[in-house]
Amino acid sequence: MSIEATTNSEPSATRNRSLGRTAAWAPLLSEPELEVARAILIHGPSSRGELSRRLKLSAASLTRLSKPLLDAGIVSESDLVLDGSVGRPVRLLDIRQEARFFVGIKITGTMAQGVLTDLRAISRVSASRELPTHEVADVVEVLVELVGELRERSGLQVSGVGISIGGQISGGTAIDRAPFLDWRNVPLGDLLRQRTGLPVLLENDVTALVAAEQWFGVGRSVADFAVVTVGAGVGYGLAIHDRVVRGPDTGLGLGGHFPLDPNGPLCLEGHRGCSTAMLTIPSICAQISTSLQREVTYEEAFGLAAAGNKVAHSVLQAAARALGHFLAAAANLTMVNTVALGGEGIELFEKYGPTVRAALAGDRDPEAGEVRITVLAGEFDQWARGAAAVAIQEYAFSQ
Ligand SMILES: [Zn+2]
Repeated sequence: MSIEATTNSEPSATRNRSLGRTAAWAPLLSEPELEVARAILIHGPSSRGELSRRLKLSAASLTRLSKPLLDAGIVSESDLVLDGSVGRPVRLLDIRQEARFFVGIKITGTMAQGVLTDLRAISRVSASRELPTHEVADVVEVLVELVGELRERSGLQVSGVGISIGGQISGGTAIDRAPFLDWRNVPLGDLLRQRTGLPVLLENDVTALVAAEQWFGVGRSVADFAVVTVGAGVGYGLAIHDRVVRGPDTGLGLGGHFPLDPNGPLCLEGHRGCSTAMLTIPSICAQISTSLQREVTYEEAFGLAAAGNKVAHSVLQAAARALGHFLAAAANLTMVNTVALGGEGIELFEKYGPTVRAALAGDRDPEAGEVRITVLAGEFDQWARGAAAVAIQEYAFSQ
């Protein structure tokens, strides 16, 4: 079995075997105990009754399965609270968020952005470093320093490291291809594990965001949703029936050249008005800079448009319409009604939301449900947090 065929809801023990892990990181808990721990982690404080119903377990089984979690200090029990559904006081079980801590790092072509989070992917400390070169040894050195800094500044023990990168990942341990770094077949997970002594899991950056949303974002309330990011590139990821969709071509960035505007500019690969040409920060800035005959930054583009500059406004309007068409295509073709939107270019949606929504609505069947758009939390560290979430899903309850 390959990692592409696995999902986050698959039993951790199976995933560990599939990834060739050693017994050193074997699960602390049996699979049924893990199911209970995951349900509490994802859905928050729950009574034993709620958990029995959710997991379709008898009250006696639930009590038996939650005991080791309480004994291990992973789960704590609240004081008595009144439960309206049963009309008597009950104790709620909740994960001790501070029972475990994780590091997530997103690698770009120029930076490594890191965050240290608790068990619910809440950021405690963040730090970033520039990459001096793209040499593997130099990047590993930067990552080791970053993990060290996050451990030192927080004073906390780290249970696992998640690394995310725009590219294709193999088996959670090696990078098959990372175009931003010009890397092929780099065993980054092993290299980092040797240097830090910590379990390390690699994941494609957009897939990591989907995983983070699945456990800690919109995925807690809906089983089907898409994640769309706009920034240096365009990212598209999907969760269906509570499973993160992964395929052999995950990591190729296949959402990056989706046709959106027959009158748009060309991307570097020659597509007219594709998602890269219409939605990425470099392309938006290049269009405005060319027209105005000077260098214009993304932030400046919005300022110019707000001040009445027609060129900046029309480029941003066209981008916003294209984003609406992209979101509609995602919803129409993959039948999701929820899209989590993020990336460094999110200002396009924040400033031109009505244009985005109008274009989206125009491409939908009037009978179709409304597409709910949520914005990913943590503008700066959302990617690093995604990487941490991947580590949490894998190592939360391992030793
Ligand atoms: Zn293209």
